[in-house]
Amino acid sequence: MEVSGEVTEEAAPAQTPVEDAPPAVVPPSERPETGREREQLLLTPVEVDHGKAVYREALPGILQIPADAALALARKSSLWPMQFGLACCAIEMIATYMSHYDLDRFGIFPQASPRQSDVMIIAGTVTKKMAPAVKLLYEQMPNPKWVISMGACATNGGPYTRYDRVLQGVDKIIPVDVYVPGCPPRPEALIDGFIALQHKIMEERGKG
Ligand code: SF4
Repeated sequence: MEVSGEVTEEAAPAQTPVEDAPPAVVPPSERPETGREREQLLLTPVEVDHGKAVYREALPGILQIPADAALALARKSSLWPMQFGLACCAIEMIATYMSHYDLDRFGIFPQASPRQSDVMIIAGTVTKKMAPAVKLLYEQMPNPKWVISMGACATNGGPYTRYDRVLQGVDKIIPVDVYVPGCPPRPEALIDGFIALQHKIMEERGKG
């Protein structure tokens, strides 16, 4: 607590010793001494994380899978984003849909109507004039639905941080699931955003 510019004894933060902090370097006593030991260390097999299967083989040829996992797998493998762009980020989004990046391999097909879409990509600057239209399109999408905020403008106003007529983040009017950074993000970054969304769909299966 600071009183009249003086710092009392209570204000001094207690020095808690960090006992469990890992050592920054391997201590000399634990380093391999001989060349053979060093080689053994280098040739240690990589630990592979095989993940956890969502299904169980009950009998040969018969798989058991929870219904929520089956639904989540279907949803994440058939994301249909709405054809909708707002500014320069939309050009990168359109490039991502082209054959070079081949989004079809993820089951991602752009749709021309909000009523057949389950993903909205906010690709560009959201002005306060456009914001009500964005909100209306979101409301017209059926559930379940997700939103990707693509680029700095959609996330927090980007270069237009001090512009009164620009919404400082689309999450002020609709919920956002994935934020893709960049100005503009490259197609690889948007694909990364889709993969993050697929992970989120699997993680949140069965909730709500
Ligand atoms: S983030 Fe950059 S590229 Fe994207 S809409 Fe804004 S100014 Fe344009």
